[in-house]
Amino acid sequence: MSLRTTPSPAGPVAPRRTARLTPLPSPAARLAPGSFLGAWQQLNADATIGHCVDNLETSGVLANFRRLVEGGPQGAFQGFWFADSDLYKTLEAVGWEIGRSGTDRWAQLLDDVAGLLERVQEPDGYLNTYVQGTPGEQRFARPDYTHELYCAGHLVQAAVALHRGSGDERFLTVARRIADLVVREFGEDGRALIDGHPEVETALVELYRETGDQAYLRAAELQIERRGHGLLGPGHFGAVYFQDHAPVREATEAAGHSVRQLYLAAGVTDLYLENGDEALLVAQEKLWESAFGTKMYVIGGHGSRHRDEAYGDPYELPPDRAYAETCASIAALQWSWRLLLATGKPRYAEEMERALVNAIAASTSETGTAFFYSNPLQLRTGHDGSSEDSPSERLPWYRCACCPPNLARLLASVHAYAATGDDTGLQLHLITAGEFSAPGLTARVETGYPYDGDVLITAHGTGELSVRVPSWAADAAVEVTGGQILAGATPGGYLRVACAGDTTVRLALPMTPRLVRADERVDAVRGCVAVLRGPVVYCVEQADLPGGVLVEQLRLDPSAAVTEEGTRLRLSGFARKDDPDLYPAHEPAPAAGDESITFTAIPYHSWANRGPGAMRVWLPLA
Ligand SMILES: [Zn+2]
Repeated sequence: MSLRTTPSPAGPVAPRRTARLTPLPSPAARLAPGSFLGAWQQLNADATIGHCVDNLETSGVLANFRRLVEGGPQGAFQGFWFADSDLYKTLEAVGWEIGRSGTDRWAQLLDDVAGLLERVQEPDGYLNTYVQGTPGEQRFARPDYTHELYCAGHLVQAAVALHRGSGDERFLTVARRIADLVVREFGEDGRALIDGHPEVETALVELYRETGDQAYLRAAELQIERRGHGLLGPGHFGAVYFQDHAPVREATEAAGHSVRQLYLAAGVTDLYLENGDEALLVAQEKLWESAFGTKMYVIGGHGSRHRDEAYGDPYELPPDRAYAETCASIAALQWSWRLLLATGKPRYAEEMERALVNAIAASTSETGTAFFYSNPLQLRTGHDGSSEDSPSERLPWYRCACCPPNLARLLASVHAYAATGDDTGLQLHLITAGEFSAPGLTARVETGYPYDGDVLITAHGTGELSVRVPSWAADAAVEVTGGQILAGATPGGYLRVACAGDTTVRLALPMTPRLVRADERVDAVRGCVAVLRGPVVYCVEQADLPGGVLVEQLRLDPSAAVTEEGTRLRLSGFARKDDPDLYPAHEPAPAAGDESITFTAIPYHSWANRGPGAMRVWLPLA
């Protein structure tokens, strides 16, 4: 088998078979620089990736590798046992960024790290600086805990990104050596071992896609089929914590640690995309219904429980105690993308968009160098200080730093999630300004979305152009010149236009602000509404309220007009001026002191950029 020696243009997911939709090669998708996603991607390139690289030094992640090299610095292992993955996710971001922009900014870093990995890797391919550098630890002795295959998975994903982005063979060689060890030791006739943190499954499938070596696909399949049989033991939180309570074909309720659940689901869907086993797809679509239909926050956050970073029961979605880890929303997007490729169903793209413009966008500061780990939908007046899982402000780094480099790798590749295409046509899934090319058909999209609903698409060539119409977009207006409408702008579907020559499509999405009522079963916010405009969820921050009015005192008047002020909204309602000292014992609530006010709501993704202060998404009604 031969490896490519020239850069492959594929994005993060490159199915070899059974996909309904075909991802565009990375250069065939470009975000417009001034667009919401394009500007964010540039901020990632200019600020976030470098910030991650700097923190690999200051947090000791790189020192963990150097101390294992002869003549390297002394000192104990630093950070969590899975700290190697911080490096790998940052390398993955660098790989996609090189592929996107051609930057050579990280050439020295890559030289240094490639040499380091080659020297730290053991002759049989093993590589994990926690186990290698901690007296008493034995390799693969505590798979429920040590994250060895998890780290190997992130190494593989970094190597694939660097190979696709720049043709770099060095990391792929290191990654294949550890993957080959996984194949040898945990293959057909090997030890039936799985990792407490799924991640290696999706990585092994992608390594198969990149190299064509079936052994990696089989290794992924074994990892997936062995899970759910109690191999990991009960652990600290029980088998459900790492989805080892039921086989993937039977486990159709989202459960346990949310990031583990979602990475596993991405891996299972990848396996379906390669082996076409319909039972896997059926189970994954049911699981998705559970996660997205009953356990997801309106911002696209997953996992409400702090205790074990886990999904709660259906509708257990407290806004103030939302765990909603940034990594969970990223993993959810990765999974939805794979289901979109597998099925072509627009709902998967719609949920990608929800997560991107709300929970994930909120996770990064306007500077690109501070981050949320947990993404609550409410912060109370008097909330004291900021911590990893109870934030009042974004932090520059975390002791458990999984989220910042995860954001970096997603944003460096986010253009690859916007569209698909093949020689029959081009499908636009994320509505964004940019340029997208399928064989025979290119489209230039101009829009200020997600704030502006006017979308102008200029297409050249022949083929079918499909444009996702959001499910909230009733009465979207369409104008087509030069092409023929095959299917109109049905909410929650695709507008389909047969293009020949030059075709212009103008889609006007209704952007009137909407009040979305909380599901009755979510007790913590029953009777409340959230304000959305297009896909953007809004919140009210203390910084925008008149003096003497607290966020907790607001009541929204649902009958009053909502006015738009740029990206902000002006709402009307009342401030309940009862004595806060009586709360929560007073009854009934006195109404005499209510004061009629108007107040501003801002996009949720931009909250906490003006210092700490109370905030809420769900608003009680007047
Ligand atoms: Zn995280």
